[in-house]
Amino acid sequence: MSDASVIPIREDRAKSAWIDEKGYFDLYERSIKDPDGFWAEHGKRIDWIKPYSKVKDISFDRNNLHIRWFEDGTLNVAANCIDRHLAKRRDQVAIIWEGDDPSEHKNITYGQLHEEVCRFANVLKAQGVKKGDRVTIYLPMIPEAAYAMLACARIGAIHSVVFGGFSPDALAGRIVDCDSTVVVTSDEGLRGGRKVPLKANTDEALKKCPGVKSVVVVKRTGGKIDWADGRDVWYHEAASKVPADCPPEEMKAEDPLFILYTSGSTGSPKGVLHTSGGYLVYTSMTHQYVFDYHEGDIYWCTADVGWVTGHSYIVYGPLANGATTLMFEGVPNYPDGSRFWQVVDKHKVNTFYTAPTAIRALMRDGEEPVKKTNRKSLRLLGSVGEPINPEAWLWYYRVVGDEKSPIVDTWWQTETGGILISPLPGATPLKPGSATRPFFGVLPVLVDHEGNELKGATEGNLCIADSWPGQMRTVYGDHQRFIDTYFSTFLGYYFTGDGARRDEDGYYWITGRVDDVINVSGHRMGTAEVESALVAHPKVAEAAVVGYPHDIKGQGIYAYVTLTAGEEPTEALRKELVQWVRKEIGPIASPDLIQWAPGLPKTRSGKIMRRILRKIAANEYDALGDTSTLADPGVVNDLIENRMNRA
Ligand code: ATP
Ligand code: MG
Repeated sequence: MSDASVIPIREDRAKSAWIDEKGYFDLYERSIKDPDGFWAEHGKRIDWIKPYSKVKDISFDRNNLHIRWFEDGTLNVAANCIDRHLAKRRDQVAIIWEGDDPSEHKNITYGQLHEEVCRFANVLKAQGVKKGDRVTIYLPMIPEAAYAMLACARIGAIHSVVFGGFSPDALAGRIVDCDSTVVVTSDEGLRGGRKVPLKANTDEALKKCPGVKSVVVVKRTGGKIDWADGRDVWYHEAASKVPADCPPEEMKAEDPLFILYTSGSTGSPKGVLHTSGGYLVYTSMTHQYVFDYHEGDIYWCTADVGWVTGHSYIVYGPLANGATTLMFEGVPNYPDGSRFWQVVDKHKVNTFYTAPTAIRALMRDGEEPVKKTNRKSLRLLGSVGEPINPEAWLWYYRVVGDEKSPIVDTWWQTETGGILISPLPGATPLKPGSATRPFFGVLPVLVDHEGNELKGATEGNLCIADSWPGQMRTVYGDHQRFIDTYFSTFLGYYFTGDGARRDEDGYYWITGRVDDVINVSGHRMGTAEVESALVAHPKVAEAAVVGYPHDIKGQGIYAYVTLTAGEEPTEALRKELVQWVRKEIGPIASPDLIQWAPGLPKTRSGKIMRRILRKIAANEYDALGDTSTLADPGVVNDLIENRMNRA
């Protein structure tokens, strides 16, 4: 990418930020040269009950794999997110809750958060939950979701949050996998004006979960639900019978904090296990630097707490930093397409962090819904979840941010616990579409298919050479899968499963999942690049590209294209798009087949599931694999019916 598309650091930002560009290089170098010294110092950013004397004990050798951080220290994560702030912040707002209905919102101070979490912890204890037990949380985006997570952390129970949009089957699978005896849910959820039958889904799921002894039910809508006497407990009734104080449990740094299942974009979800000390150090530190968090900022991450982004950057990172974090129950297009920006204006949000899927959906509706709002409070924008196409990046920057808010494109995974590659607002010149540079202590390497490290400007499989404190420690109940998935492909490295390109400036460009790389006549290509070219066409709203078996080229390029609202799918347009991609990238990238797709198969977290599209493109639509995390299975049938490769 030429320098013309570099967006320089704003001088005012560099001055006020925690770190400027020179500061970044100095600190990064120190973090890599002396990780022990670096993390010994930064581990102190949280409160330890017993301070650690050992910092790091790591081996990425598959025959002797271990990852331990701050091993002999003890702490309590909830006390770090609440109690330690009370002296100074008892009356400061910890959580701003914005309801699905714009007329509903609530401010929860740190003092109130303390009481709520203590009560929740005591309710769980009354249900027999003990240190080390697993608690499944299946809640909508209401403050009780954060209370329940922190309550588990307070008593040393391990939470497993299951996204409220998941089906009874998906819920049951996750309850059984981690053997929870208690489930926390609500009568119903509310999203986009529609009710979500969470309790009914739980009842259905529990037919397959004989191990569950009690269900704690939070009243959200007051809708009618079935009740199992002896098993179901109303949260508000139980909470009124327990004390409002609960001493935090002293936990070892490596005691588990939570299990969270990955999105399932590439296969069946993995039960990612995170532990306490390192995770909290890493999420609080990345939250401070990547979002350049300062005292008084209003910070909003639009993710659901059912995803890792919600764990690390709605709950743990911000609260560990004593921040004010906004939690939104609703959806971007309810009551109308301006909702995000209305919420920004209403609560004077300074930092806004969302996903490319949301940005592309908003783009489809044009600038007007954005432009009619004020958004003057915004200072920083963020993106996570998928590669953000330069086209969408620039729209976000120009239309939402009025060209004054830097965008942090944060690359990370459920497995990494926190952000690994991202710009820092005062320290990194931006390039639309690039996640830019590694965070402190993170050592990305690109390797070829034999695992040889590639130097300089190049492209390859993205690995991480050494551990960082937020790294996952195992796949719950299946340590071998952990070793096989992440440490056996390229020996000595953590393998991310993603491909990346590194440019002359050392910037990283995520090219998509390695499984999605296409090889056309010997040329390897990331799907992200072809998709970005298609999305750059004014008539294209969204595109997904996969390879399919091709007699001559080895693989052909198959593109699924969703058109902008009101555009007609014609043969002429198909030809135009092929020409367009040829011009943007080169003849080698011209799509062989273009299928008009009214919708694309996405995970519940909004990621395109290319593995399903690969199957359809290969005409193998009868063996689609695990589709339990699909948001709208109906989309798939339409794509199968209209498939282009009927060879
Ligand atoms: P599964 O591992 O079950 O297939 P998943 O990989 O979608 O699911 P997550 O952990 O939610 O589960 O997603 C992490 C992945 O999302 C990354 O590996 C990467 O492919 C993609 N991703 C996240 N953020 C970015 C980003 N800023 N740029 C590019 N890709 C991103
Ligand atoms: Mg993954």
